[in-house]
Amino acid sequence: MTLPAVFLSHGAPTLATANNVFTHAWSELAVVLGRPAAILVVSAHWDTPFTAITTAERLGTIHDFAGFPEALYRVRYEPPGAPALARRVQELLVGIGQGPSVDPDRGIDHGGWVPLRWMYPDADIPVAQLSVQSELGARHHLEIGRALAPLREEGVLVLGSGGIVHNLGELDWSGEAAAPFPWAAAFNEWMAAKAEAGAVEDLVAYREKAPQPARAHPTEEHLVPFFVALGAGGAPARRLALGFDMGSLGMDGYAFGEWRG
Ligand code: ZN
Repeated sequence: MTLPAVFLSHGAPTLATANNVFTHAWSELAVVLGRPAAILVVSAHWDTPFTAITTAERLGTIHDFAGFPEALYRVRYEPPGAPALARRVQELLVGIGQGPSVDPDRGIDHGGWVPLRWMYPDADIPVAQLSVQSELGARHHLEIGRALAPLREEGVLVLGSGGIVHNLGELDWSGEAAAPFPWAAAFNEWMAAKAEAGAVEDLVAYREKAPQPARAHPTEEHLVPFFVALGAGGAPARRLALGFDMGSLGMDGYAFGEWRG
């Protein structure tokens, strides 16, 4: 089985218990993808100076957010860990001088479990999580992704999880139906056009070339998982166009690369 590499915008943690257009799309995507042998999550919410990977036999649920309804802290998503996948990832990344250190204690953060809860609700597929290094920007993550590309033929779903547009300082609190801010929509469409055209070098240079990049991403941690998926999957890019939540949270996803069951 060859899988695409996927990037998803995970949105607000409340999507873990919502029932809406975003969560439905994630469920449907999993039906199309089928059941991977294992999942490598690369989430915005594990940001470390150097690469690290989880090796626990079972991943605990990390509730890495504050100020949300109590019910959200009771949600558990605790898949089996994937130590064998972690070793394989180490092997692949050592080849580019990025061999990750192991973290035997860490579980899965909400960047992983919010969408996975909808995609694979039984939590029975082994998961390992690889950290990002947001300070190192787009190209570092593209290269990590490229090194991980062989995993796609090994039945592993490489799942980048972040936000295609992510500005928490400019949320529109009038509700999820809020229209995107013009600057947010412009950035979103630029990313989509470049992704669908396979313009990888333009994407990597988004900080110079895209409209208002520092407003779409005041910090880069929510976009760098996109580059891991892009590197791992390459062309073609299929856009899962999901619009916006709260005006400044772009929710689009992408599947990169050919796939066959
Ligand atoms: Zn997030």
